[in-house]
Amino acid sequence: MEQPLDLIIIGAGAAGLTAGIYAGRANMKTVLLEKFVPGGQTALTAYVENYPGFPEGISGFDLMDNMRKQALKFGLTITTTEVQLINRHDDLFCIGTTSCEFRTRTIIVCTGVRPRKLDVPGEKELFGKGISTCATCDGAFYRDMEVAVVGGGDSALEEGIYLTRFASKVHIIHRRDRFRAIPTFVDKARREPKIVFHTDSIVTAVNGGQSVEGVTLKNVKTGEESDLPVAGVFLYIGLLPNTEMFRGFLDLDQGGFIKVDANLQTSVPGIFAAGDVRVTPLRQIVSAASDGAVAAYSAGKYLEKIE
Ligand code: NAP
Repeated sequence: MEQPLDLIIIGAGAAGLTAGIYAGRANMKTVLLEKFVPGGQTALTAYVENYPGFPEGISGFDLMDNMRKQALKFGLTITTTEVQLINRHDDLFCIGTTSCEFRTRTIIVCTGVRPRKLDVPGEKELFGKGISTCATCDGAFYRDMEVAVVGGGDSALEEGIYLTRFASKVHIIHRRDRFRAIPTFVDKARREPKIVFHTDSIVTAVNGGQSVEGVTLKNVKTGEESDLPVAGVFLYIGLLPNTEMFRGFLDLDQGGFIKVDANLQTSVPGIFAAGDVRVTPLRQIVSAASDGAVAAYSAGKYLEKIE
């Protein structure tokens, strides 16, 4: 039987690719499993201006493509597969889609997060027909049209500002009158003449036939309802962890994020978690990359110990 791997990394976002760079440089026999394409949520971000080393900023796609190339340079193997099965046999973990396709001595979980949805009438039917969670992917379809952005965090404000490149008007709809986003984004958005704020407001329905024609808004303070005609709706209302497959196997917090210790080890020795998927006070590209480095180092130390 083939020798087991030293490390399997699950997920190719900033955490996973950085773990790949560090594991490669440490000569660990490593495979990274990604179900889609490398890049994670960052690759869907138009512009990153707070990742150190890029004073002029860099596109999310370019940043992640650079990380991918750097990881490949250090010998990382990236394989496309959707992990659905993980179990433990003595000192080894078995990972695969339906069978034990890979045997490994350590794992780093970097499965990241996915966008939360609104759960209102019309959303299911019109998703992909005017409702999007990716301004970078879909923004250009709305040239000279009005669009809505839902949310009050960094993503909503940052992507709302980005959408002013195309849209004639960007309506930012937020359920409170205070923003979770950093003041820099809020101030920039307030200075942008194409942005209109609808605070204390929630979307109660997305309306349209073949495609989005508008949203129904409700003011949470007055209870007043109104229709806002828009051609596109961009949802930025937070993130859900991709941890369903680890329920009952790893300790998770109430929100489903993976609990780790200071070395990023999970409740199962030999399994580490890095990036947005773990319990952390900060979800940024730089903190995900840092996690990837720490987790790979910790996995190396664990291997030394068990050898
Ligand atoms: P977030 O910070 O969790 O913000 C989600 C926003 O959506 C909040 O304003 C929240 O309202 C609102 N919301 C949640 N559920 C809702 C619902 N059902 N209906 C309507 N509104 C709802 O999410 P995020 O903006 O995607 O950011 C996620 C993480 O990535 C954060 O840590 C953020 O700092 C980071 N990030 C950083 C950058 C950057 O630094 N360049 C860019 C993007 C994201 P409340 O405020 O009322 O809870």
